[in-house]
Amino acid sequence: MLASRYFMPTLKENPSEAQVPSHIYLIRAGFIRSLSAGIYEYLPLGLRVLRKIENIIRKRMDESGALELLLPILTPAELWKETGRWDVYGKELFRLKDRKDADFALGPTHEETITDLVRKNVRSYKDLPLNFYQIQTKFRDEARPRYGLIRGREFIMKDGYSFDVSEEDAIKTYEIMKDTYHKIFKDLKLDYLMVEADVGAIGGKFSHEFVVKVPSGEAHIVYCESCGYAANVEAAKFHHNKLPPEELQPLEKVYTPSVSSVEEVASFLKVPTQKIVKTLIYKADDKFVAVLIRGDREVNETKLANLLKALDVRPATSEELKELNIVEGFVGPIGLNLPIYGDYSIEGLYNFVVGANEKDYHYKNVNIGRDIKVEHFYDLASAKEKDPCPVCKAPLKETTGLEVGHIFLLGTKYSSAMKAYFTDKDGKEKPIIMGCYGIGVSRLMAAIVEQYHDDKGIIWPDVVAPFDLHILILNMKDEKSVKSGFEIYEEAKNLGIDVLLDDRDISPGAKFKDADLIGIPNRIVIGKSLNEGKVEYQRRDSQEKKMIDLDKVKEFLQTLK
Ligand SMILES: [Zn+2]
Repeated sequence: MLASRYFMPTLKENPSEAQVPSHIYLIRAGFIRSLSAGIYEYLPLGLRVLRKIENIIRKRMDESGALELLLPILTPAELWKETGRWDVYGKELFRLKDRKDADFALGPTHEETITDLVRKNVRSYKDLPLNFYQIQTKFRDEARPRYGLIRGREFIMKDGYSFDVSEEDAIKTYEIMKDTYHKIFKDLKLDYLMVEADVGAIGGKFSHEFVVKVPSGEAHIVYCESCGYAANVEAAKFHHNKLPPEELQPLEKVYTPSVSSVEEVASFLKVPTQKIVKTLIYKADDKFVAVLIRGDREVNETKLANLLKALDVRPATSEELKELNIVEGFVGPIGLNLPIYGDYSIEGLYNFVVGANEKDYHYKNVNIGRDIKVEHFYDLASAKEKDPCPVCKAPLKETTGLEVGHIFLLGTKYSSAMKAYFTDKDGKEKPIIMGCYGIGVSRLMAAIVEQYHDDKGIIWPDVVAPFDLHILILNMKDEKSVKSGFEIYEEAKNLGIDVLLDDRDISPGAKFKDADLIGIPNRIVIGKSLNEGKVEYQRRDSQEKKMIDLDKVKEFLQTLK
């Protein structure tokens, strides 16, 4: 490809709306342009990268046995109404009407559509298993589209859906997809984590997210470098270190004037924060509950909501505490008339401090069993950095990440709602067991740039680079340079190397700047050293320059194949 005939509108300045490296560089280097908030155009360079990413995904999905198809983007409202998602999806669903006033949606995901296809065409266990996927444009009317391709309103996904006769088989398919995803993200040279995700209100069986480690990521992850355990903060477990057992001391009510936070109480009573137990009152849907947790830990509201099977969990307000006759700042479990849920952190804790539910008073030497009744202990605390790994006890690390893949064992949620049944070997009608598997294809392009860039521009990994080789002819007025440049260009093309030749009549400085910005992995520069019969070779990911004799270039090009 000749740069003089190509379309790569690079920019000198950072676009004002862009905050993260991928957004800045994909625009500046001429890969994408914004048409409207969260809606992007893929320019020729961008499309080349996108196609390479798609093809890596496609190859691995095909190898796994999944079948590619293509479903309509425009989907009738009736299907969404069958599963209740026409209402549940709210404003994120792009809705429109046809000329007969019938409702449609632009698909953000395709569980309903694919389930409809399967229920109309699958009768018996003999027709199963099936595993479909597609690579397609999706729509979601995000409240705050941002970060370029990371959170758009129109984006490209690989979405896949599996159909099995039993949960056992569905888990096998799920494991195959998990392996396939590992292969895909390794092929793409990403530094990523597979993370146990919270299934929460969606109600699936289990779920994993694939998260690329980036500083700007919105997902908060804890992970273990020793054994590979990783989980979203919402779902992360950790090993609880217990304090040693003690002899029970007599219960004591102590005067603690205007002392109410954990740190204040700990320093006032000269006890470690681990010996202070917080009593937190939550409203879970329409009920109030109390959670007891050690002073050095925080309650994880997602875990609490899952335990209580509540849709909405929030701390009780000051007004609600007053109505419950609870003294804010001195809340305590003794004599409290609410269901009490104990976090693991207080199991086996002795002689601790709690609020006395009376202004300016606390109880000291409180013990479970003797002073308060806690029947069960639950995992209700958020994991944090340095907590022991739940698997191997090594200290956990925390990171932020960008979710690029999500796999879900759905069970019968959609097949039951939409009556996608099959006749089993025993002649009985049963709902098909489903799984769903997504990859953010356009988001991956941004994720790669987030991990592969420097202060000059993008550094594409070879496998997804728009071109393999970038040839720069520094002086287009020098006949010898032009001749050598075009000869190398033709040789590279003949070898099947994707090559971009910068034959534009612009300054050498501008050519170097663009080459750094665009980030093609291999670069051959035809400049002054041509007088000595040499050209310069450099990789975008290295500072090192290498001189190559003109008569050795052909040989050298072989190594780039
Ligand atoms: Zn571990």
